[in-house]
Amino acid sequence: MISEENIIEVFEILESHLKEKNMIQKFIDEKFTPFQILVATILSARTRDEQSEEISRRLFKKVKMPRDLLKFNKKQLAKEIYPIGFYRTKAKNLIKLAKILVEKYDGRIPEKMEELLKLPGVGRKTANIVLAYAFNKPAIAVDTHVHRIFNRWGFLKTKKPEETEMELRKRLPRKLWGKVNNLLVNFGKNICKPIKPLCDKCPLNSLCPFSKCQK
Ligand code: SF4
Repeated sequence: MISEENIIEVFEILESHLKEKNMIQKFIDEKFTPFQILVATILSARTRDEQSEEISRRLFKKVKMPRDLLKFNKKQLAKEIYPIGFYRTKAKNLIKLAKILVEKYDGRIPEKMEELLKLPGVGRKTANIVLAYAFNKPAIAVDTHVHRIFNRWGFLKTKKPEETEMELRKRLPRKLWGKVNNLLVNFGKNICKPIKPLCDKCPLNSLCPFSKCQK
């Protein structure tokens, strides 16, 4: 069983098995700016991490701050970020976003959830990633992997990622909040997959009630 009693140990186990950091954690380690973290997170929606990382790095050679994005028109920016998923919509949103950041925030990224959520292309998950990783604020970025895994563990019983986020805010020790996305997204992609999880290779299979191969 995975519960509040052993969740710190569970995170330590996952950390010791983590093979590769996710894109955002790499960018944080490389001291990318909050603006670049925000842009990379928007670009990564519905796109493989490897492709998002490659295209973000390519874009960041030309784009360091919001006003740099305004040198492109929608068509040019779409070409820059092609073939990322939904590249036309993302290009349109990024230009709108850059305009708002320049005009309303003097080029800075707001540090409050309510303000981040008003920006084009920014949903709760993106806002939480920016708050947790770029600003080191207490925030939990929950996506479908995080939602599925906590439910499989029996740690909580929720129907939607938003509900999972609210439950985790009540029950997960704060020192783990910033680790959730980096550890669980990777784990969800490689081991605890949506379909056919690799329980025989999972370091948590003796603890997990969903395991198909209890040791
Ligand atoms: S034992 Fe299976 S279901 Fe449980 S966390 Fe590991 S991979 Fe996921």
